Amino acid sequence: MQDITKAKELIESSDFIVAFTGAGISVESGIPPFRGPNGLWSKYDPKILDMDFFLKHPNISWKYIKEIFYDYMYDAKPNIAHYCLAELEKKGKLKGIITQNIDNLHQEAGSKNVIEFHGTTKKLECINCKSKFNSDTISLEKLPPLCPKCGSVLKPDFVFFGEPIPNVAFEKSIELATNCDLMIVIGTTGEIMPASQIPYIAKENRAKIIEINPNPSNYTNTITDIYLPLKATEACQKLKNL
Ligand SMILES: [Zn+2]
Repeated sequence: MQDITKAKELIESSDFIVAFTGAGISVESGIPPFRGPNGLWSKYDPKILDMDFFLKHPNISWKYIKEIFYDYMYDAKPNIAHYCLAELEKKGKLKGIITQNIDNLHQEAGSKNVIEFHGTTKKLECINCKSKFNSDTISLEKLPPLCPKCGSVLKPDFVFFGEPIPNVAFEKSIELATNCDLMIVIGTTGEIMPASQIPYIAKENRAKIIEINPNPSNYTNTITDIYLPLKATEACQKLKNL
């Protein structure tokens, strides 16, 4: 039996599916990954997202943050892979998505239970009073943007280097990974700690693992049960058409 057929059958026979997604699912929506030959870090210095650097030079960091995350990526649209996961949730099969992406595309596709492991570009947080604001309500004409409540610098509400994972996201992810009977890993090679541990936690709790990645990853020969060497949209298209 072909792996794609096996994957489809496994999805059909599972009741508590969780998806674990990374940059690869959003690449086809025009969002470049951070790493790799054409990744953002081949063009930009990662220090702009270093917390210490940001606190010392918020205006420099913000110049590039605005360019990358607010001018360039902000209008990206979900692709068929995002919509497939939303559909699977509507059917009651998929109980949640743990994503490492900060682009909000799962929610835009209609997914409800999305754990944003690394936060989101859609909100800004005050570094002083911790108030959060919808990004759309804050002008980025003058940088850095300042908190309407206390006048301190606002920071995008995603995880910078040197920052811990938000507690709630971390705990919810562990809970989903522990309870699922199938985890679908899409577009992530498992290089970023601690997010990369999520599929291992699922496996330890006896979940099956379907992996969709064009190239093999750290998971492929260790915990993956069914490996589909495809782009996210190709795999979803094939699974839909079976
Ligand atoms: Zn404030």
